[in-house]
Formats: sequence, C-alpha cells, structure tokens
Amino acid sequence: MFFEFMKTILKAKVIFDGKNILEANQIEIRDGIISKVGNNLNGDNLIDLGDEFLMPGMIDAHIHLSGASSGNLLNEIFSKHPEELMLNAIPWLKSLLKAGFTSVRDCGNTNSVFLREAVKNNIIPGPTIFAAGTTLSQTFGHGEFSHTIPIDIYKQMKLTEICDGIDSCIKGARTVLRRGSDFIKIFSTGGVLSHRDGPMQEQFTVDEIQSIVKEAQKAGTYVAAHAHGNVGARNAVLGGVRTLEHGTMLTEDTLNLMSERGVSLTPTLSIQTLITKYGKELGVSSWGLEKNESLHQNISKVLPTANRIGINILAGTDLGFLTGRDIDIGKNAMELILLTQVGKLSNIEALRAATGNFAKLGHRAGIIAPGYPADFVSFAGNPAEDIHEVLNVSHVFKSGKEVILN
Ligand SMILES: [Zn+2]
Repeated sequence: MFFEFMKTILKAKVIFDGKNILEANQIEIRDGIISKVGNNLNGDNLIDLGDEFLMPGMIDAHIHLSGASSGNLLNEIFSKHPEELMLNAIPWLKSLLKAGFTSVRDCGNTNSVFLREAVKNNIIPGPTIFAAGTTLSQTFGHGEFSHTIPIDIYKQMKLTEICDGIDSCIKGARTVLRRGSDFIKIFSTGGVLSHRDGPMQEQFTVDEIQSIVKEAQKAGTYVAAHAHGNVGARNAVLGGVRTLEHGTMLTEDTLNLMSERGVSLTPTLSIQTLITKYGKELGVSSWGLEKNESLHQNISKVLPTANRIGINILAGTDLGFLTGRDIDIGKNAMELILLTQVGKLSNIEALRAATGNFAKLGHRAGIIAPGYPADFVSFAGNPAEDIHEVLNVSHVFKSGKEVILN
C-alpha cells in the first residue's frame, strides 16, 4: 500500500537558512523532514508565523549532559550515583528545547549515549543528541579531574578511558565506539577543572592522536580535541582532529594551519565567562579559578583573528552543571551574544555559528534545505539586527512538530 505523507507549509516573514537570509518565505515539511523551500507552496495545512524570524533550531556544539548541580565536579561525581545524575539531566533536555536548541553535541559524558537513545525513541522529549559518550585521556590527563584518587578506582568508574601509547589509544578508541560514541572526544592539553595538570601542558603525542583519528575515520566519524595551550592544540591539528574545543591560547600560525586543514573551533565563551563572573560562589576550586583567568583574557584576542582567517566557528557553551545565573542550561543562546561581544563576530556570523556551521561537520542539523530535519526556532524580534533577540524564543519545532513551550 502506498501512503502519501501530509504536507505542512510553514511560513514566516524572514527565513534564515543557517547561512543566509532567503528570498523565500515558505518551507514544505513531510514526515518531519524538509521537502521544499520556496514561495507559494501548496500543502495540506499551513502554519503561518506572521512577522516572525524563522531559522534552523540552534545547536549547542559543546555541552556535557552530566546532571550535575554544582561547579564542584569532583564532589558531584564522587557523591552521587551515576543513575541519579542521569535522571537529573532529563529536565535539562526540555529546557534546551524550550530555549530553541533542537540539537546538542555532548562533548563527553557517559550518560549522553543513553539519553540520545531515549530521545530518539520518544521516551523523553529533548534535542537530538550527538554524543561523544566516554572520553579518551592519557594518564595524568584532563579526563581524570582528580590526580590524587588512586587511578585504579578512577578506571573502574569508566568516566574516561585512560590510554597511553598507540596500541592503548587504538583499544580506547574502539572501546568507546563500541559503547556507542557518535564521535570521539580526546584531551590534547591539560584543563581548568582538572586538578594538577596545567592548560599549557601537552597531552597525548601526535602519533597517539593520529592512531585515534584513524580508528574514528574507519568507523565513519571524527575526533574533537579539548585544547588550550598552543603546542597541544597544534599536535591535535597535526594528528588530524576535525574540531578544536576551547582553543584559548592558539597562535596565528596554528589558526592558519587549522584553516588549511578545515578544522573547526568551538571557543566555549559561556563557561569561561561563567567561571570568571560566578566561579567562586558556584563552588569552583581556587586552582580552577586561577587557571581560568588568563585563558578567558586571551580568547578575546584569538577569536577575532580566527574569524578573520575564516575558520569555521561553532557555538558551544561547555555548560555541564546548573548555575541559576544568566549563563545556564536553558540560556545557552547567551553563547551567541558572547560571540559578538568577545569574538567580534557579526550577528549573522553568530547565528551561523549556532546553525549552518555545525552542518559542516557532517551532522544532519543546522540547515534549512530539503532532506534536513524540520527543526526550527522562531523569534518575534530579528536577531540578525539585535542578537539579544535569540533569548526571546517564540516557537520551536522538532521534526516538524511544535514543541509546547510552557
Ligand atoms: Zn567541555
């Protein structure tokens, strides 16, 4: 039997397709997928958004669906059951949808693979999740968080796969892919919220990174590298990663190399700004506050250069715990505002960072074009004219269905 899906037409005054503002003002949707973009389209039913500004649902390209409720991550991890943390993350998914985020890329959390499946199978409402799942870290790496707890205990908790040497990296990559990672997240420098490693410290060798990249490619995917210091970041680029996360201390040479090799940058301004503004009251340790300071200052120099060079910039908050502040889960669009303020991106560039730029990674999200999921957000105001309008969401659609906002 042949079944013809209903055609829904979605109409708005202005449509931004993830790259540019279109001449067209109508979208045809069939079975949750965009089937046509144009004018004077005919369908079985019409949703007219009047004078609103419609664009692809936004994507937070760097989030951690950890379910944590304070900035003291060690305390969260070691005092709560993993099941409890996973359940805590469920309401986050609803807040993300309401904020106009119809996809997120989780850059490291074992929960995210299970949450992804629950959303996909309509068990819980939420954005489409592209999940790194378990991360890969070297011994004495950022993935450990604590560098005093006996490492065997840490390994048993499976928060990160600890790999040293090429064979171990290959095994680690295959292990997380088998567990369901959509892409692989590694740490190529130390970090802020891990105890004794510095952000300028290199982690993994180029050969180790290359071996992980090769395994990812064989499985049809890619590697994202956490990197602050320039040397470790450069190692990651030379090793073949597709995205650099944070990139706070990158030099112009490395940015040029990234541009040559088509490596994207997620500057994660939200987390750095959050820690600078509220870190102490949110329970971030004194060593975390100290390490964050110089990184936060330097990214305001790196980002305008990256943008001038033409690097693909992604909007990613790096939020991983509830804050109750103006930068929080459910207020992820603050990242777009910060991209214009700190990174000097234009409003349209910031909108691209949260939509069309993400599609360049090969994920099916962030573009209004036939074949892409019918995931949209609309605003009564025009964020291309005033970026603050991204916080005033009017309608959200996921797979062609309107999300109830209250
Ligand atoms: Zn992160």
